[in-house]
Amino acid sequence: MQEQVREWLEQDSVDIFLGYKMVQGHPLPHCFTKENIDEIDDLIVGNARYSLEKMATKIAAAHPELKIGLLTRDCNQRALNVLYVWNQLKPDNIETISVNCCPSKLKEHGDCSYLEPEKAAPLKMMIGIDNNMDVKAAEEFGQEDRYKRWMYELQKCLKCYGCRDICPVCFCKECSLEHTDLIATGSVPPEVPIFHLVRAVHMGGRCIDCGLCEDACPVDIPLRLLYRKVNGIVSDVFDYKTGTSADQSPFNMLGEEVTLELKPI
Ligand code: SF4
Ligand code: SF4
Ligand code: SF4
Repeated sequence: MQEQVREWLEQDSVDIFLGYKMVQGHPLPHCFTKENIDEIDDLIVGNARYSLEKMATKIAAAHPELKIGLLTRDCNQRALNVLYVWNQLKPDNIETISVNCCPSKLKEHGDCSYLEPEKAAPLKMMIGIDNNMDVKAAEEFGQEDRYKRWMYELQKCLKCYGCRDICPVCFCKECSLEHTDLIATGSVPPEVPIFHLVRAVHMGGRCIDCGLCEDACPVDIPLRLLYRKVNGIVSDVFDYKTGTSADQSPFNMLGEEVTLELKPI
């Protein structure tokens, strides 16, 4: 991997390469360049998961002609496909090195951090939604119970925007979650459930199920499950398989093709 990246940079196949470097014991995202070619010795795969493609999107918005290389796991590649179809990245400007998916399972979720850990899991099972549930299991609660459980989860929200900020496919220049017609600004917690429903609707045909939002959420709201449900509807009703191809049209409920310009975010 290091040799491949070194060759790409030396031969100007890419201008920068986004990967990981160990800094004080932590694998952190790092931008490798020809100018600092010796740093390639420090390039690692690591167990960390960052949205390198989101960084690539921001860099490409400011420097559209830059050729960018990056490490990709399966979820990164799905996110890249979404970013290509939404014209946020140009496939011709991207080179990838695929690496194995995370060696360890995604985080084992307990409950929100403000509860005592030993009490958290049982309480969550009793009145909330376990993060490891699949959509079908979560739907087995009766309608009223299900509503209460989701409200319990959503009311924990701190409106930190971590879920949006980490998300590789949240690239909008103006985000509805900060649009005063939809969401009151300056108030914490957010209005529940509108804050989450707005984001959930936007994830239809975009979310590639990487789970980063849920990992980022400080109160362990089962966001991934929520977006899986939305994408299940998109798949069933519209036969749209999110992130599976760079050649499909952006998902649009009206069924009309969308043409987008590459714009800074
Ligand atoms: S939450 Fe919606 S509006 Fe905000 S960045 Fe994500 S997709 Fe765009
Ligand atoms: S799982 Fe979360 S972070 Fe990943 S694409 Fe879906 S909404 Fe974004
Ligand atoms: S990361 Fe969690 S707490 Fe923060 S805004 Fe998103 S749902 Fe709310």
